[in-house]
Formats: sequence, C-alpha cells, structure tokens
Amino acid sequence: MLGLLASIFLLIGASCTKQLPTTDNQLPTNSGEPAANTRGEGNADAGSSPVTNATPPPMEALDPAVALPIADYASRRTLKAHGEYIRDRFSGYHLGDDIEYVDVEAAVPVQAIADGTVVRAARVSGYGGFVSIEHVLDGKTVIAVYGHLDFGSVSRKAGEVVTKGQTIGNLGQGGTAETDGERKHLHFALYEPTSSSDRRVNGYESAPAGLATWLNPTDFFNTYRQPVPTPSRTFDPATDRGGDIFKLRFAIPAGMEVEYVPSLEALNVFTVAGRGTARERSQVFIRSFDASSFLTLSTVTLHSTETLTVGQGSYDARRYDIEKKAGVADFVDQPGWRNGRHIVTDFHDATGLDRYYVVAAHPDLDPAAYQSVLDSMVIEE
Ligand SMILES: [Zn+2]
Repeated sequence: MLGLLASIFLLIGASCTKQLPTTDNQLPTNSGEPAANTRGEGNADAGSSPVTNATPPPMEALDPAVALPIADYASRRTLKAHGEYIRDRFSGYHLGDDIEYVDVEAAVPVQAIADGTVVRAARVSGYGGFVSIEHVLDGKTVIAVYGHLDFGSVSRKAGEVVTKGQTIGNLGQGGTAETDGERKHLHFALYEPTSSSDRRVNGYESAPAGLATWLNPTDFFNTYRQPVPTPSRTFDPATDRGGDIFKLRFAIPAGMEVEYVPSLEALNVFTVAGRGTARERSQVFIRSFDASSFLTLSTVTLHSTETLTVGQGSYDARRYDIEKKAGVADFVDQPGWRNGRHIVTDFHDATGLDRYYVVAAHPDLDPAAYQSVLDSMVIEE
C-alpha cells in the first residue's frame, strides 16, 4: 500500500512537501519525474531552479490563493475530466472538468474561484446558463468558464466585479432549458486568453493541439494551493461511460480517472493531473476480445508469459511481456506507450463463455498500483 501511495504521490506531481527544500538551500532533485506540472506555476516555491537561498514559507501557512467553484469538486468529477475524448451529443477533447450532481435535488451554489470581473453572463447553446469571469493571478490573466447554471439565479452581469468565494448562481436542473437538456452538473474550464478579444464558449476542441491553449484545472488548483486530491473510486458499469461494453467493477487508483475510447471500445485509466489529453496521461489501458482461448496478436513480440489468477473471482489469467514488432504501424488511438515494450494481463471468467479482458500497464507504472487494479476486478455478467 505504501508503494501505491508513493507512486500516486509522484504521479500527481506538484505537492507541498515535494517542493519544500530538504535543506535550507537545496530543493530535492531525486524525483526522477518529468516536469509535468509547470504550466502557470507562479507561486514562489514552485520554481524549477535546483538551488535557491530563499526558504519558502510552509504552504500550510498560506491561505489558498483561489477557491474551488463548487463543493465536492474532487469526489464528483466522475464522468468527464479535462482532456478526455468524448463522442456523445458533442465530440472532441473535453476542455473542462464536469462535476456531477444528478442525485442532488437541492440547489447547488457555484462560487467565483477568485476576485475578478464577469466577462459574459448569458444563455448559451449547449450550456443553458453560462458565466465566464476574468481573473488576474500573479500578473497573469485567466478566464474561468462556468457552464450549465440556472440563468435565472445568476447574480452578476458582464462588467461587474466578483470576489473570491462569492456565489454567482446555482446549477441548472437536469433535462431542462436551464442546462440545455444536459445533466445537472458544472462544466468548469480555464484558459489564458491570447488577446483582449479572446472570448470562448466552446466546451471541446477537435484536436489535441487545441487543448494546449486551455489549462488543466487540477494543475491550476494545485498551483494556487487549493489541491483537488481525487480519491480512489470504483468503476461502476451502471453509471460509468463504457459500462455497457465493460461489465466490470474495479478500483480506479487515487489521482486517476477513466476515459472511454469509443473508436476502440476501450477504457483508458489516466492521471487527472498533468498536461495534454487523457490519452497522453494514460497509465492503464483496458480492452476486450471474444475468443475460445487466450491469444496474442501477431503484431507483437512475446518476451515472456506466465499463468496466474487475478481479481475478486480468482479469474484465469495470463501475463505477457510484449513489444510491438519493428515495421508494424503504431496502434491507432492507443496511448503512445502501447507501441513500446510493456506488460499486459488477460483474464476471463471461467464460468463465462468467451469474453477476455486485456489490462495493459504503462511501463513506468508502479507494479503495486497495476496489481491493485487487477486485484480489485469483478466481472459482472
Ligand atoms: Zn463538460
């Protein structure tokens, strides 16, 4: 468990203790992790300089520079996070985090994340009530987007000022004009405008390059001392996207979420923090196939194989150390690491007929974290 926690700690990246000096004048240099969360880091103790004479104050001693826009931000971000590829009513890379309140009848207030000025408060197609607010933090302008509000409850007009934590309105009711027919949820997104006329309402970008002009809210909140520590939760086939294909229950590790990949009918488990698309942050990739026995693709070299059991049902399993053969084209829509050497574990329910699940691990993923996902597997038929 300790190994898992340590791994998640590193995966999440920016954190208080990691960035504090181990001595008076030296920052730790042994993380071995790429600088994944440096965008927008403006607080004094998050610099990348390896040596500094200034001892930053303990982060706990500082008030958070920003507020979260809604209660339960971390625990209710279960359906669409920043960077997930979505194909439903909309398609493209989801720019915000969606915070779900479909099970809550009562009014859910939404707060301004910082002092700022309202850029737009209007009814917008695809959202219902829409509010965007401009903030200046450490000299940098950022615009926060709040979608699916009950416009009748929105208390501020364009040009008016708001203060950090001030309620700006309530979530709209699901399935009504208040949300343009959407679920009761907050779509929260952030971008750094490229000019004074850069005013955006889009919720998706069609290409990964477009995503690069938006901020990952998790990285933003970490930077401004308002961390969003995504807890571990269980993938539920009844409520999670892809659950109609994957009749599985399994533990999504802390700090990670799941993206359904419609083009491959696959599940991608990714770190919520970090730059780029969810695919680029992939840690575990899950596919399935129907067959009468274990099989591997002719496109990969098999370095070794072992037989084992995994999951709550002690399912028959095989683990493979595989590597895509030279000359074989990269796998379309899969994470980049799938094209290099890595471990996959296939399992199936001996009482079922022919559905096999393939759980592949990023080569740098802590084996304990990978095993915890496998250990938690339950096949629901
Ligand atoms: Zn959304």
